[in-house]
Amino acid sequence: MKHLHSGKVRDLYETDDGLLLMVASDRMSAFDYILEPEIPDKGAILTQMSLWWFDQLKDVVPNHVVAPGDEPRSVLCRPLKMVQVECVARGYLAGGGLNEYRADGTVSGVRLPEGLEDGSRLPEPIFTPSTKAPQGQHDEPMSYEQVVAEVGAEVAAELRRVTLAVYTRGAEIARERGIILADTKIELGWDADGVLTLGDEVLTPDSSRFWPADEWKPGRSQPSFDKQFVRDWLLSPESGWDKSSGNPPPRLPDHVVERTRQRYLEAYERVTGSPFSG
Ligand code: ATP
Ligand code: MG
Repeated sequence: MKHLHSGKVRDLYETDDGLLLMVASDRMSAFDYILEPEIPDKGAILTQMSLWWFDQLKDVVPNHVVAPGDEPRSVLCRPLKMVQVECVARGYLAGGGLNEYRADGTVSGVRLPEGLEDGSRLPEPIFTPSTKAPQGQHDEPMSYEQVVAEVGAEVAAELRRVTLAVYTRGAEIARERGIILADTKIELGWDADGVLTLGDEVLTPDSSRFWPADEWKPGRSQPSFDKQFVRDWLLSPESGWDKSSGNPPPRLPDHVVERTRQRYLEAYERVTGSPFSG
């Protein structure tokens, strides 16, 4: 097998018959840094959760999965020509969306009502695309007009439709399980027949914000089953890290690694309704 690419989290290989083997590592990234140490089982949890969701979404959008790989962290897929837009849908305000809103009342050019706070529910889910920045650079918000300029009006409309449909289906299923899907990022690409296809991972704690519904309270950072726990720890006095210093973050202590692993496991088990078996 030929090694094609190593991203922050996943390693891609080409198989002898021209398929793609995507291997999710246990690496964890936050604020565009790869953190030390790894989170045990994270890769397997993300891959298994994506496989579960791809199946739930198969009538919403075709996906790149050919078959599960030989190990729980890997999956065999069809190679896609990835669309150069990060497709994000938000039903609630948090993270980068909240920062944009605080700056000028819009997110990716979509004007929102006044008075929203951290964790507020939006009047309806919105498409908030961003650029796919090269490694080491930040993804920047894109307006819908910028997406049209990049891919044309027809494809832009299709990206928006599919992204909102994935969000809506995901949010419905999560809600039945007591989880709020606050936002999610998907990656779409063209398959060999020119069909727009869902690639990468989908509706995982790395690509989405999952909040326990019974603890949701706008006006503060929400308890979550995703990376927020690690982000909050890195920004807390306990970590001793000054994000603006440009220095890499400190090594995660054991208790943060273990809590993070537990959160990923809980996300998997609550969403799929099955214990994680690796
Ligand atoms: P980068 O690739 O810029 O480092 P990243 O850190 O998000 O971004 P990973 O998620 O670790 O990268 O790696 C996954 C890579 O594989 C992404 O670049 C993604 O666009 C790409 N990818 C996912 N599915 C497919 C597919 N079916 N065909 C081709 N590329 C894919
Ligand atoms: Mg990625």
